[in-house]
Amino acid sequence: SFDFAARVERVEPSATLAISNKAGELEAQGVDVVDLSVGEPDFPTPENVVEAGKEAMDAGHTGYTSSNGIRELREAIAEKLRGDGIDAEADEVIVTPGGKQALFETFQSLIDDGDEVVLLDPAWVSYEAMVKLAGGSLNRVDLAPYDFQLEPALDDLTEAVSDDTELLVVNSPSNPTGAVYSDDALEGVRDLAVEHDVTVISDEIYEQITYGVEQTSLGSVEGMEDRTVTINGFSKAYSMTGWRLGYLHAPEELVSQAAKLHSHSVSCAVNFVQRAGVEAITNTDNAVTEMRDAFRERRDMLADLFAEHDLDVPVGDGAFYMMLPVDDDDTSWCEAAIEDAHVATVPGSAFGSPGYARISYAASEERLREAVDRLAEHDLI
Ligand code: PLP
Repeated sequence: SFDFAARVERVEPSATLAISNKAGELEAQGVDVVDLSVGEPDFPTPENVVEAGKEAMDAGHTGYTSSNGIRELREAIAEKLRGDGIDAEADEVIVTPGGKQALFETFQSLIDDGDEVVLLDPAWVSYEAMVKLAGGSLNRVDLAPYDFQLEPALDDLTEAVSDDTELLVVNSPSNPTGAVYSDDALEGVRDLAVEHDVTVISDEIYEQITYGVEQTSLGSVEGMEDRTVTINGFSKAYSMTGWRLGYLHAPEELVSQAAKLHSHSVSCAVNFVQRAGVEAITNTDNAVTEMRDAFRERRDMLADLFAEHDLDVPVGDGAFYMMLPVDDDDTSWCEAAIEDAHVATVPGSAFGSPGYARISYAASEERLREAVDRLAEHDLI
């Protein structure tokens, strides 16, 4: 038997995995499962991006690239970030195989054993795992009592953040709530970060998916330029989950530390994928608008359907998730939803917020209607 490292034993397999395994099992038995547990857009990658990838492959762009990414893509990313008000240069960017790797490298670069990381709950499942893998300790602030908004929770955040805090993670628009934080909320974060000398990770992976509001990049807020790590990626904005492409932007001294982890682990993101990424970042406005409009319609439809069942669901202005209030025992509720109604969702407790189930509305209107009907039929709503 193996003598496993403490760092892997500290971490649990993802709770979403249990649900998708169950969904897979049922589907293998021929059951029609409405899968609302997935975190990926149900659109194909825009055709011009696919073409750019193919052309790059045909042109022989199949070798290693410079570890931090091809200059053309890093320049395009820096330009995009400057458009968001972040004072970015190509040398402050690392191109990674997905935003997840960018987050992983950031936690590994900043967190020592026992260092405190503050999360806003409900928080995306992998933050906790990444903090634990790095040996950090968690301090969690619950946004559930405030309809998942950050501004009314600033007093609670003020209590939580201290000189012992090393890092704070902000994810707007949020997975799993869809909340987009106000500028006042972000300025509140800035005040605390400056007062207590805290670095802030701003995970902006859902940045392009907002409905009638603008997401503000934390790194553009005055006073945050030297203490923000901006994380973004191509998975959600351009429906490119399987291409594995993302990036981090941070002050150069942090980039040079993370670059060591990057070069000694993944070496670089896939060459032809990076070239397709240049096309995605510069030439996909229409595809993004189309997806955004579709998500917005589905969100409104789903909220209306739940309202017909007298359910008041806090609806966010971004991403493609909502948190449905369910029993306190959300794990049992989700088990019943998948086993009896054949609707796959993720328990809120996986995100630090029991009493909810996360619903992804990256599914067709027909399937969303079907899901609500089935949940109602089985008295789950
Ligand atoms: N951050 C959040 C909040 C996410 O929901 C995800 C994906 O589910 C990621 C980061 C990472 O995405 P990727 O590694 O595909 O870029």
